[in-house]
Amino acid sequence: MGYRRTLRREVACTGIGLHSGRAVHLRLRPAPAEHGIRFLRADVGVEIPATLQYLGGQDHATTLTRDGVSIGTIEHLLAALGGLGIDDVLVEVDGPEVPVLDGSAAPFVMLLHEAGLRPLAVPRLHVKVLEPVEVVRGAKSVRLLPADHFEVAYSIGFDHPLLRHQSFALRVTPRAFTDAISSARTFGFLRDVEMLRKSGLALGGSLENAVVIGETGVLNNKLRFADEFVRHKILDAVGDLTLLAHPLVGRLEATRAGHALHAEVAQKLLSIPTAWELVPRPGIPTLEAVARAPEPRLQPAEA
Ligand SMILES: [Zn+2]
Repeated sequence: MGYRRTLRREVACTGIGLHSGRAVHLRLRPAPAEHGIRFLRADVGVEIPATLQYLGGQDHATTLTRDGVSIGTIEHLLAALGGLGIDDVLVEVDGPEVPVLDGSAAPFVMLLHEAGLRPLAVPRLHVKVLEPVEVVRGAKSVRLLPADHFEVAYSIGFDHPLLRHQSFALRVTPRAFTDAISSARTFGFLRDVEMLRKSGLALGGSLENAVVIGETGVLNNKLRFADEFVRHKILDAVGDLTLLAHPLVGRLEATRAGHALHAEVAQKLLSIPTAWELVPRPGIPTLEAVARAPEPRLQPAEA
């Protein structure tokens, strides 16, 4: 995991957009080192880097915007890319949304495994948290803390008898992300569905791509995990933090948070120069470090 990675070959899939309800074609292409994760709206020819700088809106999904062109519902694909440690890839989409597929990141993880991963000859840099940074909004809070690895601890609570409280924590590695997080699906409350539809949102939403919580139970047949809801919040957080453009070395602690707070704490971190630094994985020299190193002597000094 010390070097940047891209895909071994191109892969593609088709699915519907959660909000538009329209079919979207998605193509993932290998890219050179330092390209980063970029979205190309193939229908209008605009490329948008997946970084916080282009964050457009976060009402119901994470959206990137550039020159008036947007790409939405990117967070589950970004979670799969970030969770598996893929740095450089071009994501081609022929509409304004990434397909929702089953509402989790698992189909994207499968697609990325089909593509295969290829290491690039450039060391990967990480955003290492040096000082705690937090954002608190009433009962909602999110903080980034120094840690030796990328860890997430998440708690959720809702005013609903079926979902009073859930919490889950893990160290995010490609294996842990794949096994414990990637298949957790988006969820919503039946009471909110009608409101979303009236606003022209969630037109592609169905029990095929979201867990819907009714008054007395889950409308889908069964959950993938008893605590699938909080695991999905971690999936969203991993996707949103991928917008830092470098893997995180630090601990995210979130309570009742969501896309907007995930992005806000990441933006706050980057705005405080003393709170973070860009570091290679220990043992991997950066090109700068190699350039700064003293020139080797022709003869070893006498003892
Ligand atoms: Zn989500």
